[in-house]
Amino acid sequence: DRRYAQYVGKTLEVPSVDGTVSIRVVADEAVDPKFGTGVIKVTPGHDPVDFEIGKRHGLPIRTVIGFDGRMTAAAGRYAGLDRFECRKRIVDDMKALGLVERIEPYRHTVGVCYRCKTVVEPLVSKQWWVRTKPLAEPAIKAVRDARIKIIPRSWTKTYYHWMENIRPWCISRQLWWGHRIPAWYCDRCDTVHVSRTDLAACPSCGGAVRQDPDVLDTWFSSGLWPFSTMGWPDDTPELRAYYPTAVLVTGFDILFFWVARMAMLGLHFTQAVPFHDVYIHALVRDAEGQKMSKSKGNVADPLEVMDRYGTDAFRFTLAALAGLGRDVRISDERIEGYRNFTNKLWNAARLVLSNLDGYDAAKARKAEPALADRWIQSRLAATVGTVRTALRRYRFNDAASAVYQFLWHEYCDWYLEIAKLSLYHAEHPDARLRTQHTLVEVLETTLRLLHPFMPFITEEVWQRLPHRGESIMIAPYPKAARNQHDPTAEREMGVVMDVVTAVRNIRGAMRIADGVTLTATLRPARGAEALFATTGPLVETLARARLRIDPRASRPRNSALAVVAGSEIYVELAGVIDLAAERARLQKEIERVKESVEFRKRKLARPEFVERAPAEIVARERERLAADEALLEKLTASLGWVDDR
Ligand SMILES: [Zn+2]
Ligand SMILES: [Zn+2]
Repeated sequence: DRRYAQYVGKTLEVPSVDGTVSIRVVADEAVDPKFGTGVIKVTPGHDPVDFEIGKRHGLPIRTVIGFDGRMTAAAGRYAGLDRFECRKRIVDDMKALGLVERIEPYRHTVGVCYRCKTVVEPLVSKQWWVRTKPLAEPAIKAVRDARIKIIPRSWTKTYYHWMENIRPWCISRQLWWGHRIPAWYCDRCDTVHVSRTDLAACPSCGGAVRQDPDVLDTWFSSGLWPFSTMGWPDDTPELRAYYPTAVLVTGFDILFFWVARMAMLGLHFTQAVPFHDVYIHALVRDAEGQKMSKSKGNVADPLEVMDRYGTDAFRFTLAALAGLGRDVRISDERIEGYRNFTNKLWNAARLVLSNLDGYDAAKARKAEPALADRWIQSRLAATVGTVRTALRRYRFNDAASAVYQFLWHEYCDWYLEIAKLSLYHAEHPDARLRTQHTLVEVLETTLRLLHPFMPFITEEVWQRLPHRGESIMIAPYPKAARNQHDPTAEREMGVVMDVVTAVRNIRGAMRIADGVTLTATLRPARGAEALFATTGPLVETLARARLRIDPRASRPRNSALAVVAGSEIYVELAGVIDLAAERARLQKEIERVKESVEFRKRKLARPEFVERAPAEIVARERERLAADEALLEKLTASLGWVDDR
């Protein structure tokens, strides 16, 4: 600052409340020349910035405020006054001496106590520090060598950044609670002794010693946690068994405070990493993606959520939404959806349990499995594989979704329906026994697969099912063997399911009530005759249709058509629906959709729409056009079925 260049390096005599005092003038970059007069008074004893300035210019440190918040003897005639009171008194005294030119309010940042918001006065004091560089280097190397893996990997960068720019660590705290600093002072010979065992006398002169009253920073103590809890420094069986541990699950906000410290201290004291994988879990946000906070009022109390929806539903929701590196957006709808899943499981279990009379596992094992049994076993094996792979990669959402899809849409939607066929037909005891066996085996395995996600309901159901062992908690997690995969069963069952779905779709398109039994003819594709010969009754039950299988059939008049893997299905409509009314309805519907298609086409042909409208609106319009065109095609086909003359 040119204005004051002539004073820099000089000592000025300045009138003050303490009489005339000598003040040295220094120039420092920390001062903003645009702020006030561009000149400030520095107090290296009570401000971190001033402390740095003082260090740069060799200024003396005077402590005028004590640990009790009152002025010290160094404050002269203000000694003993409360700091706030003292400030007022000094201003008054300066005014009285005519030393105040003007007073302007301004904003600045003041440190406050995180609990009671009391203004904190910085004081210069002696503290214990750890030289962190030598500790950080091995901890950085451990991550580089993948002896410690941080998941998701993106956090590795943050870890390196912190560790490579690590600063000395102040580990002493003036608190009542904590590990006490193991240092003893001798006043007689003025020495400090750090000791592993408590000292009663000074090792140098035998005089009385007093232990440092400070305690260790809580993160220092926590950093020792992985091994100190296992009996370290003794070589205990626990330490051998549980150190290092496999996975540490934690939030990103303590990756440095805790995880990095555990890595540093673990490597230093035990020469081994404390854990192999660090899984950084997602943060729970509200449905709009907002961070939950008490002041916003969007906080979901987990206990209330569990009361409302059940602990299993809540836990499953968290897993299902925990995409790697993504935050969890939680909403009542999602939790409700997963509560429905628990109900689905409960009802499925009830159906199985109420059909187990006469079940004999040993006998059942000898029965030849049918296509559906082989199919569901193969699907289970695939699901076990998917879940295991997902868990190994910490993709909890993929694991949850796989077991959800399997249990709901394969076991419940298809296998249970198929099972009813043999369960309710006592005239085929073998088929019944075999079905019971598949029902029990697949459900029992699925429960074990689902157990980590829904611990309570799975245990409850498992205890009622035939099982081995005391608790599902200690039952082995399912494994999938390669030979459990049955591609033939999956392919054949896939065709059967597609045929059933096709007939159901026709029923829907023609608005035929669910209770009406349809009449259908199936012309099998070449090679599919045997498949339909055995699964015909299955298709009949699931599609609620009388089925005639005829390799030489052709489409009868007024029948709906579906083609599945080369096989053709004709569903008779005459006598089932009012053909004339349906024809009229379809024609009207076709007109409406045609108009809509024309309208959208014209809209999309206008350059001023395509070029000026937001991209997502144009894209949505294209999607709607495609949907309309697909619908038009379907309606036209349907009209063809009822329009045979
Ligand atoms: Zn406080
Ligand atoms: Zn001594």
